[in-house]
Order: sequence, then C-alpha cells, then structure tokens
Amino acid sequence: MALINLKDLLKHARDNRYAVGAFNITNLGFIDTLIDAAVEERSPIILQIAEVHLRYVNLEEIAPIIISAAKKVEIPVCFHLDHGQSLETVMRAIRAGFTSVMFDGSRLPLEENIAATREVVKIAGAVNISVEAELGNVGGEVIGEVAPTAHAASEEFFTNVAEAERFVRETGIDALAVSIGNVHGFYKGDPDLDFDRLSKISNVVPVPLVLHGGSGISDDDFRKAISLGICKINFYTEMSAGAVARVKQYLLKEKPDVTSIPDVIARAFEEVKNIVKKRLEVFGSKDMCAPEKTLCFSCSDSTCGFSDPKLKPGATTFLYQDLVDRITQEVISSIKDGNS
Ligand SMILES: [Zn+2]
Repeated sequence: MALINLKDLLKHARDNRYAVGAFNITNLGFIDTLIDAAVEERSPIILQIAEVHLRYVNLEEIAPIIISAAKKVEIPVCFHLDHGQSLETVMRAIRAGFTSVMFDGSRLPLEENIAATREVVKIAGAVNISVEAELGNVGGEVIGEVAPTAHAASEEFFTNVAEAERFVRETGIDALAVSIGNVHGFYKGDPDLDFDRLSKISNVVPVPLVLHGGSGISDDDFRKAISLGICKINFYTEMSAGAVARVKQYLLKEKPDVTSIPDVIARAFEEVKNIVKKRLEVFGSKDMCAPEKTLCFSCSDSTCGFSDPKLKPGATTFLYQDLVDRITQEVISSIKDGNS
C-alpha cells in the first residue's frame, strides 16, 4: 500500500531537500489525474481536501475512492485534510481514513491556538496521523472561489519567529504552515516572499515548513523557499484556472459544436495533469521514486529512505482501522458528554 502519513513523507523531503506538492481535490476527476501525474513523474504526492471545499465533495463518500486509488500505486500518497477548522472535522477525517490533518487555529489568539492544536495532536497522534498547523495568518480568500480576487500579503499577519519556536514546542505538531508574504488565491502584484524570515523560522523550528498559496509564485522563488526549509507546497488556484482556460479554448475555438460532456471534462483534466507535472519538477520531487533514488517502496535498495521497517508506510499507518474506530468513538462520546 502506498498510503503514508505527512510526518514520514516530509522527513524524506527534508533529508533530500525537495518539497512535496499538495493539490486540492474538489471533484472526482482530480483523483486519477493527480495520481497519474505523480506516477508519471515518479514523485510522491499529497492529495488534500479543504474543509471549505466540502460543499463540492462529500468527505465520507470520496475518501474510500481516494484511498483505494492510492493503494493501487507504488508511489507514496499522503491523504490530508486541508484547513480543518474544528476538532469535529478533524475527527471526521480520521474516521474516514485520512493519514494527515491540518488544524487551522491561525485566527485564534496564540494561547488558544496552542491549546486547541495540542488537543488535536494528542488525538491524531494516538493513531499515528500527522498534524499540520498554521501560525501567523496566510491571507487571501478561501481557495477556489468562483471569481477569486487578487490579494496582497499583510506583514502584520506574518509568522513571528519566536512564537513559531514556542508554538511547535508546545503543540508537538509535525509540520508548520508559515505566513511569509504568501497568500491564498491570486496575488495582487508580484509575490514578495520574506526569505529572511523564512530562514530564521527554519533555524528555530525543528519540523518541516509548509508554504500555502503556491499559485503565482515563480519557479526561482519556489526553489529558494525549498532551500530554506519549505517541504510541502499547497497548490490549487492556478491549476483550477488553467483547466477553465483550457475548456474555454476548446469550446470557443477548437470545437464549438461539441456535445459530449466527457470530451469537455477530459480537456480540463488533461490541463490539470500538465500543470501538476510541471510543479512536481520545480518542487524537486520528480524521480524521487525512481529505483536509483532513495524513495521507492518496491525496491530492495538498502539506501532507500524507507528501508527502516519502522518507516515503511504500511508499518506506520492505518493498519489498525478498528483501533481508529474505537478511539474516535470514545473521543466523540467524551466531547458529547462535555468531558473533553
Ligand atoms: Zn492554505
């Protein structure tokens, strides 16, 4: 099986200085498209569903399809909840078989963010599910709006270096999303990332760092951010916009008389695949699953980053669905009883 949690995956990314792309699923068509792109590039991938996108997909219905697709391929696939806004959503994701969750308490005051995030880490950690959290606040609109407007980053919401160190130490999270001039959706003007701040955060924080709002950032800036500790990059708006542009071209110019909906949809996902493959190259994860490289599950290469049995994905994650069920049931009933 190729499902892996975020902690194990990002450890390999950090050791080998690349970032894993995290792409949002807002429609069934994304599942095979994203997995195929990663398989063709011989790259690990993170498939994620954002809580705000649960108006497009039913979490409990789509999760088994994603898990089944991920288990059929040999590349490592992390199945991640993006911007979980409450413990309840985190618990739904854990029950549905996600291997990793983001709890986003970034809009809370620091003390409350620490307390809430620590609670999530305690529960998710008990069943070996990784936790990403955010400090500072990545601005911009919730990803994937119908008509996104461009945003500029606001320095008052940038991640504070000393707070980042304390936040990670006190919560025990596995990955930290930072705000360094990145915004969700489209950027107003050119993105201006605060690399000095990123470098300082990276020096004091022991866990891998995450860059949200990847759409619109230049290839060179991505590479620089990765060299300074970014190990996961969230990317959605640009692939969504690219797919729509491709469909427009098809309908208006190439085939105005088309009546087949699958043909139209196929154009959209072809474009998604092209865009994702290019990102995987820029992020440096291309060929990480090639036999001669260090991340190959099926290989017998003793230099494989996962040759330690404790790091084999099957050994670390999700073999204990019964246990997950029991623990989550207990937690849910304790929340209901007000004993949490
Ligand atoms: Zn985000």
